[in-house]
Amino acid sequence: MKTLFCILFLLLLSSCRESYKFPKGENVIFITLDGVRYQEFFNQKVFSKFWTHHAESGVVLGDPSKKSKVRVANMMSLSLPAYITIHTGKRTLCKTNDCGHIKRESLSEKVRRKLVLPFEKVAVLGSWNGICRGALRENSLVLNSCGDTDFILPGHEDINLESRKNPPVWDNARLDKYTWQHGFRYIKNHRPKLITLSMNDSDEYGHDRQWDNYIKSLKAYDQKIHELFLLLDSMPEYKKDTMVFITTDHGRGKKRWWGHTLMRQARPIWMFLTGPGIPKKGSISHKKKVTHLQIKPFIEGFLGIYED
Ligand SMILES: [Zn+2]
Repeated sequence: MKTLFCILFLLLLSSCRESYKFPKGENVIFITLDGVRYQEFFNQKVFSKFWTHHAESGVVLGDPSKKSKVRVANMMSLSLPAYITIHTGKRTLCKTNDCGHIKRESLSEKVRRKLVLPFEKVAVLGSWNGICRGALRENSLVLNSCGDTDFILPGHEDINLESRKNPPVWDNARLDKYTWQHGFRYIKNHRPKLITLSMNDSDEYGHDRQWDNYIKSLKAYDQKIHELFLLLDSMPEYKKDTMVFITTDHGRGKKRWWGHTLMRQARPIWMFLTGPGIPKKGSISHKKKVTHLQIKPFIEGFLGIYED
């Protein structure tokens, strides 16, 4: 297993030694943006604030021009199999977006259990309802709200109400702007140890072949990510001790940019991570392939609960 870390992280640092010491910190903000191609992610006009203000504060993986190979770890290039892989750290037999809840303990569940955290300290917030099936077991003890469900913490009633009044045209989801709102307020009021924020509008506009709205949703992500960094910087609890990890579940076709399922062209993805102990190198080159499977163990290592 250690070699995996060498691949993902140590390529960034120096050589990979037997006793890899994870970068260590206190909190993790884990963000996924659904179906955002590397072609757009590495476009500085689309993610302009990110590339201007944040990329150099961490490590960006997945730039083909740098020969950085980052790939999904499922055969389908599809959302739910990808989220399952990300949150369980294992490959999955799930091949559709209709699979039920995962059966093994997930990243969020393990973090809450191992660190013996109160209910409000770990949460999964997703715009698409499939996120909670990929990230949590049924009847999970982790705070969550995915798709068209309310976020049950007190103080979120107005966002729940607005969100219900203004549903997206697609099913089983809420608009990303409400997921961001929940997330920002939750971070301010409850200072979570681990929050997963999973966005969805981008993929929906992609499938609808609405290029302008696809790009618009990405620019909105760029803005929200910028605001999130400003918020974290303003909070002493987060300023120094927090890792922010951002990735996507799959890419999209090249010419057929609206699709992704079973497409080879949708397998390349990207990742960004920043936080204590993570080199500030921006977009980097590396030799070995990185995949979704490496995210869970790395976050566990960062929070000090990884078991080899
Ligand atoms: Zn899709």
